[in-house]
Amino acid sequence: AEKLEDFTIDYFEEIGVEYIQYQFTTIFGVLKEVEFPVKIWDEMKEGTGVDGSSLGFLKTSQSDMQAIPDYKTFAILPWDTRVGRFICDLTDNEGNAFPTCPRGILKKIISKAKDMGFLFKTRPELEVYFLSDELEPADDGDYMCTPPKDSLHELRRLITDDLIEMNIGIKTIHHEVGPAQHEVEFTADDAIYSADNVQTAKQLFKMNAIDQDIICTFMPKPFREKAGSGLHIHQYLTDLEGNNVFSDKEKGLSDILRWYVGGLEKHAPAISAILNPATNSYKRLVPNHEAPVHIAWGVGNRTALIRVPGYEKSARIEYRAGDGSMNIYLGFAALLAAGLDGIKNKIEPNKPTKDNVDLLTESERKELGIEQLPWSLKRALIYFETDPLMNDIFGEDFIGIFLEKKKKELTELEIAQKNGFESDWEFNA
Ligand code: GLN
Ligand code: MG
Ligand code: MG
Ligand code: MG
Repeated sequence: AEKLEDFTIDYFEEIGVEYIQYQFTTIFGVLKEVEFPVKIWDEMKEGTGVDGSSLGFLKTSQSDMQAIPDYKTFAILPWDTRVGRFICDLTDNEGNAFPTCPRGILKKIISKAKDMGFLFKTRPELEVYFLSDELEPADDGDYMCTPPKDSLHELRRLITDDLIEMNIGIKTIHHEVGPAQHEVEFTADDAIYSADNVQTAKQLFKMNAIDQDIICTFMPKPFREKAGSGLHIHQYLTDLEGNNVFSDKEKGLSDILRWYVGGLEKHAPAISAILNPATNSYKRLVPNHEAPVHIAWGVGNRTALIRVPGYEKSARIEYRAGDGSMNIYLGFAALLAAGLDGIKNKIEPNKPTKDNVDLLTESERKELGIEQLPWSLKRALIYFETDPLMNDIFGEDFIGIFLEKKKKELTELEIAQKNGFESDWEFNA
């Protein structure tokens, strides 16, 4: 079932669904929902009004928004099988896309890509820590360890069962480097549905963890000495027939891939504000924990910001800076827009490197044209505010709301630092 005509009260009754949930995501990445009984489906099926100002989507008094279901996203909630949910787009009362709706912002860039002849495919990898009530790691495992050391593998299994039940394509699941740090890799999908899947997966992680009295966090760097949690994004473009345009029969990697990388590198400092939007994000972007510090790229290089995993017909790039505090719709939008800018303007990236970028000397980096990523949210925001592409992607209303909140967080953090409760503040942020 994926078209409006497929969904009728009879159909819902047949599959045991008694309530419908409309879900959508706020500017800051929080999943929201509004629910109604199946009985009133006919009056609700084309959408319902929500209060945009209570949800933080606008500054002014005009506050009516509509949540319009995307019928392709229908799924039954595994933890409450009486509920069927749809993910929604937000519009104004006339049906125009709402300028600050994250899913709408991503759709807008995707349609620009389409005009250039490209489809955008993404394959995220989501890392997470499971913690006890005392906020300590809930297992003592390490990278790809097995049970009994991997003592949370049952919980991971419950989560993956649910992901599969909700039709979310997953590739691998495994214990990560940190104690009680785990990872799910998704399969490649159209960016919109790929982003929807990440939002759903985060909720699934949390619902299952809570059931076992375990806290689950996507916080980028919960422990200073341990691995941080990233949200790596593998991505590639295809033509409108679905052929990968990142690979080139003769050269291996295509010009399009190289320019795409050039665009990502050019805008990397500015899009940090979107892909690493928490003050805590920047504690993760330090050497020796497989997190990127410098704006570099290379084939198979895990110290680089942009890794090209291989040449085969499935050529793609992996952008390694992002973390789970991002709004995934906006993260995808920022990456795609930066990459398209690279293609449009044939931006050449710096020289690819196989070396550990963090161990190069200052002058070696200079020679390769390698700069450092912003090392604080404060710096990232300055790049964000001064890069004209950000205004094209996100628009004035979004930028106003976003910067106001982020600057408030910087002030709060500063106060917390002065008073010695910085990490408490970040844990709660
Ligand atoms: N946890 C690392 C990060 O912060 C990634 C480790 C890995 O996936 N190899 O990005
Ligand atoms: Mg992985
Ligand atoms: Mg990983
Ligand atoms: Mg990875």
